[in-house]
Amino acid sequence: MQFVDLQTQYQHYQSEIDQAVLDVFKRGDFILGKDVGLFEREVAAYLQTKYAISCANGTDALNLALLALEIGPGDEVIVPSFTFIATASQVAMRKAKPVFVDIHPRTFNLTAQTIESAITAKTKAVIVVHLFGQPVDLAAIKKICQKHRIALIEDCAQAFGATYKDKAVGTWGDIGCFSFFPAKNLGAYGDAGMITTQKKSLAEKITKLRFHGHQRKYYSVFLGLNSRLDTVQAAVLRVKLKHFDRELKHRQTAAAYYTQHLSSIKQVAVPIDQKNSRHADNYYTLSAKYRNRLQSFLEQKRIPTMVYYPLPCHLQPAFKYLGYKTRDLPHSEHACRTALSLPLDGFITPKDQDTVISAIKSFYLKE
Ligand SMILES: *Cc1c(COP(=O)(O)O)cnc(C)c1O
Repeated sequence: MQFVDLQTQYQHYQSEIDQAVLDVFKRGDFILGKDVGLFEREVAAYLQTKYAISCANGTDALNLALLALEIGPGDEVIVPSFTFIATASQVAMRKAKPVFVDIHPRTFNLTAQTIESAITAKTKAVIVVHLFGQPVDLAAIKKICQKHRIALIEDCAQAFGATYKDKAVGTWGDIGCFSFFPAKNLGAYGDAGMITTQKKSLAEKITKLRFHGHQRKYYSVFLGLNSRLDTVQAAVLRVKLKHFDRELKHRQTAAAYYTQHLSSIKQVAVPIDQKNSRHADNYYTLSAKYRNRLQSFLEQKRIPTMVYYPLPCHLQPAFKYLGYKTRDLPHSEHACRTALSLPLDGFITPKDQDTVISAIKSFYLKE
């Protein structure tokens, strides 16, 4: 059993992927080739977003979003602490200040209330993370951002395919940032990312910023990055996008199956769903008592699990200069001690899930 089984997935799509990649090799359009433009259009249609601009990875998508919104020194950006470091690090890389706020203990996500309480005169934006594929309460959060005139950036790295009120995440805020890292629910065969927006001016700016601020060849109107999606990755992603809905359904069914069979264990809290939304089920994450011992127990039974995340951002050595202390964000810190993600992908079998479920049950019988 694997945590995310990329080999099985490849076997299912092998002839299509091999063909798509070989076509790129034959054409030789490796940089911003045919598949890049087509993938952008297909993602735009899938998400129902006006603009979709590809880039090299999810971290760059966040960086480009902040660059486009001209966030920099003196600005504050509200971010969760219980997330991958990139959400907060890109704020700091722009020399703005990440302001960490706590999460709801059961959804693991920021809430409108915690965000509003952290807004100051310096707040320029909030980056919400749809953690594990679960949308935040976008309607309430968007209202607060509009009321205080701050930008809403959605970190959708784990949430491709998630919707809130039947509208894709990444299309609610000013800018949506996606990652197609291999273990995300739409995964490339390397690094890849995407930015969504509904505003023409932002789309044009981001398109320039992703390659040295070029307005035309060798004519730069901004200083920018070199952050383009490889054509080879776009070709792989186009194949995977065609099959994405089936995989998403499979994930959702498998997640419901875990919940059905694990919710009776009193030492674990199964994920709860945000109202009005469709979870993308990138990671199925429990909050488990004796988490570390449970993880070792499962490992001995050759059941791979992951801890997303063992240390909250506000306590990372890299953010020591911000002066946060242990107990500043109790729910985030508690989540770091208890979160455990179980094997889940678009091909997991009920048999493998039963193995995971009975191992977890037998662990708690001994406790
Ligand atoms: C994966 C991830 C990122 C970064 O994406 P990369 O493509 O790995 O750079 C950012 N935020 C979150 C929440 C992620 O899970």
